[in-house]
Amino acid sequence: MAAITLDSEMTDMKNSPGPDAVFAAKLAEGVFEIQKCGACGAHVFHPRVICPTCGSADLGWVAPTGRGTIYARTVVRRKPERGGDYNVVLVDLEEGVRMMSRVDGIAHDEIAAGLKVSASIGEGADGGPAVVFRPERGAS
Ligand SMILES: [Zn+2]
Repeated sequence: MAAITLDSEMTDMKNSPGPDAVFAAKLAEGVFEIQKCGACGAHVFHPRVICPTCGSADLGWVAPTGRGTIYARTVVRRKPERGGDYNVVLVDLEEGVRMMSRVDGIAHDEIAAGLKVSASIGEGADGGPAVVFRPERGAS
C-alpha cells in the first residue's frame, strides 16, 4: 500500500496531520465532527492534541447532534459590492463546546442570544467548506 503523501504546505513539522487539519479534511468530505476525550468524556472544540479538561491525549472524533443555542451575535457591516453584511455568532453546542460560526436563513437582526440553531456544512468566507447554522424549525 502506498503511503499517503501530504502537501508540505498543509503539514507542520510533524509527520501526521494535526487535529486542525483532520477537522478540515473531514469538513471537506461533508463530515462535521468534534473531539471527545476518551479519559474524561469531555467534548473538545477547537481541535486539540491534548484534552483541556484533564490533559489526556486520548481524543477521538464523534459526530455532534449539530444542535446548539446562540450565545452571542455580531453583524459586520459591509458594502454590497464587497459582499454585503454578514453575521458572526458564538454557538453553544449541546455537547458543551462553543464555536464561532454564522447563521444563514434569517435576517441578521433577528438572530439573538438564545435562538436554537442546527448545524450544516456550507461555504465559509474563504469559499471553502465551513460549519454554518440555520434556525431550528418545527420545534412545536
Ligand atoms: Zn479529558
